[in-house]
Amino acid sequence: MSSSDRNFEGWAGVDDRATKGGMVLKQFQPKPWDDNDIEVKVLYCGICGSDVHSLSGSWGPLDPSKPNICGHEIVGQVVQVGTKVDTSVKVGDYVGIGAQSDSCRQCEWCLNGEEEVCASITWTMNSPFQHGNAKAAGFISCGGFANYWRGPAQFAVKVPDGLDLGSVAPMLCGGITVYSPLEQYGAGTRAKRVGVIGIGGLGHYAVLFAKAMGAEVTAISRGTDKMEDAKKLGADKYIAMSEGIKGHENSVDLIICTINPDTLDVLPYMPLLRPHGTLCLVGIVRNPLSVPCFSLISGNRRVAGSNVGSPAAIGRMLQLVVDKKIESWVQRWSFNDINKALPAFEEGKPRFRFVMVNTENGGKL
Ligand SMILES: [Zn+2]
Ligand SMILES: [Zn+2]
Repeated sequence: MSSSDRNFEGWAGVDDRATKGGMVLKQFQPKPWDDNDIEVKVLYCGICGSDVHSLSGSWGPLDPSKPNICGHEIVGQVVQVGTKVDTSVKVGDYVGIGAQSDSCRQCEWCLNGEEEVCASITWTMNSPFQHGNAKAAGFISCGGFANYWRGPAQFAVKVPDGLDLGSVAPMLCGGITVYSPLEQYGAGTRAKRVGVIGIGGLGHYAVLFAKAMGAEVTAISRGTDKMEDAKKLGADKYIAMSEGIKGHENSVDLIICTINPDTLDVLPYMPLLRPHGTLCLVGIVRNPLSVPCFSLISGNRRVAGSNVGSPAAIGRMLQLVVDKKIESWVQRWSFNDINKALPAFEEGKPRFRFVMVNTENGGKL
C-alpha cells in the first residue's frame, strides 16, 4: 500500500509562549511516505523533559522554521504498513515509538542492535531524516503530540499484550533511558547494589527497574521529601545528601544519575561507589563536569554516560515490565488540555510522569 491520505493534525509550538499555554493545534505534512514506513494512530504520548526544553526555549530559542510538533513517548495502533517493512508489525498492532526514529541502519552499531550509538541518529522530533525521499525533501521529524505518526517501522516496538498502554508510553524515553544503563552495567548481577540520584520521572523508573532486576536499591535525593515515595517504589535505602553520606560510603556498584542541573558536582557522590563502581549520567548537565582525577583512580572508578536505548533494548524492557508487572506512576491528561499540562510540567508537578491521552483515537483517561 502506498501513502495514505490521512489528515495529520498536531499541537505545535509557534512562539515562546508554547509551554505557557500557547500550543496551537494545526495541520501538518507528515514525512514523505516510504515503503519501510508505518502509520500509527496515536492513543497516548508522554511528556518528557526534552519536549519542554525544546518548546520553552531553554535549549535555545524556538525555531519557527521547524515543525515543533514534539512528543517522543508514543503509543498507538498501526493503521498502515509499507510494502518493504520487514518486521512482523501489522495493521491493528499496538506499538511504541521512543526518542529515536531512525539511524544509518548499516554501521556496526546499527547491525548489532545498538542504534542509539549510531553517528547519524534521527530523533523523533525536530530532527532531519537521513534516508531516501525524506532526506531529499529536507524533512524534519514530527512527534506524537498529534493524531497520527508516520515513520520507519524499524523504530516502532510492538507492545506486548496485556500491558496498560498509557503506563507504557512514558517508558519509551523516560524508562529506556535508565533501563539501558542498568542493563549495560549488569544491575542485579555484576552490579548487585544500585544507587539512583534524583527521584523524579527518570529516577522512579530507575528504582522500579533496578529492583525488578534483583538489585538492592539506594535512592539518593537532596532532602528527605522523596523518602516515602522511594520506599513505595521499592528502594531499600535512602540517602538525603543534605544530611551527609555517613554510613553509606563504599556501598553501591552503580549509580544512575538522573538529575540535570546546569552544573553538577559529582565529587560528593564518588565515595558512595565501591571499587570498580560506575557513576552513569543520563540527564544532560549543561556545563562541563569537573571530576577530580584521584576520585577516579582510587578504587578504579568510572564516570560514564548513556543515551536512550535501541528498539531491541526497549523490547527487553517491556518484557521485564510484563514479567515483573511494573506500572508507571502517571497522571493522565486529555490532549485537549495540553495547554494546562505543559505549564504544570514546568512547575514540577508530575508524580512522576504526565501522559497525554487521545480520547478521540480511543485512548482511555
Ligand atoms: Zn548506524
Ligand atoms: Zn525524552
